[in-house]
Amino acid sequence: MVHFVGAGPGAPDLITLRGAELLKEADVVVYAGSLVNPALLALCREGCAVYNSAEMTLEQVLGVMQEAEAAGRNTVRLHTGDPCLYGAVREQMDALDALGIPYDETPGVSSLCGAAAAVRAEYTLPGVSQSVVITRMEGRTPVPEREAIASWAAHGASMAIFLSAGMLEQLQSELLKGAYMASTPAALVYKATWPEEKVVRCTVGALAAAGREHGISKTALVLVGDFLGEAYERSKLYDPAFSTGFREADQ
Ligand code: SAH
Repeated sequence: MVHFVGAGPGAPDLITLRGAELLKEADVVVYAGSLVNPALLALCREGCAVYNSAEMTLEQVLGVMQEAEAAGRNTVRLHTGDPCLYGAVREQMDALDALGIPYDETPGVSSLCGAAAAVRAEYTLPGVSQSVVITRMEGRTPVPEREAIASWAAHGASMAIFLSAGMLEQLQSELLKGAYMASTPAALVYKATWPEEKVVRCTVGALAAAGREHGISKTALVLVGDFLGEAYERSKLYDPAFSTGFREADQ
């Protein structure tokens, strides 16, 4: 059996209890070495075979899983953050289906959440934005034209931009084609929850300069939107004047 496990954003104690248990019981671990904190591998039992998928192709990863399955062994496939975002898990699952190898998935704390914690921000502020756009600049992986950054930016919603810290110049100009202004707040969050975490608050107009100045060009999330600013409305849920299913309004 193969267990896909979300490792969390970096800090080793941000893996889930279930994920940690699966790691402890694994016979074989294939971890995404570019971003998974290797400290997590300390959980593996002695004799566990550990592979770094950063140095492997999909075929090689599948080969390891297939061999483990044939030997009656358990494999943990350890992905950074949560596997459902830019995890390249679907192709693995489809291949496992074709091979008749069973699998399950254990979610993890995405860097989307790790970065928000680092900047102590809430993406969904009343009166500001009730939506979060999770996207990326086009790299080797194409992005459909209808999903261009500028078209998302036109909404003025909260944005979390993955895999794009090496393209801040282009990202900045794409964002400015939408509803964002040069003065719209932004943040670069480098290695959220790792010991070397860095948070750089800036504006959309200063994103590229901030990246240069702080030497941030990878392993960072770019956060954009007025949720990083000062103004918002208080919640209705906790407003004394409103009743909820759990609480009567004050008279
Ligand atoms: N599945 C992962 C994302 C993998 S894509 C998740 O849920 O977080 C890799 C990209 O994620 C990186 O280029 C970077 O943009 C972002 N990322 C991953 N870990 C990060 C961290 N600790 N801090 C900031 N960004 C991170």
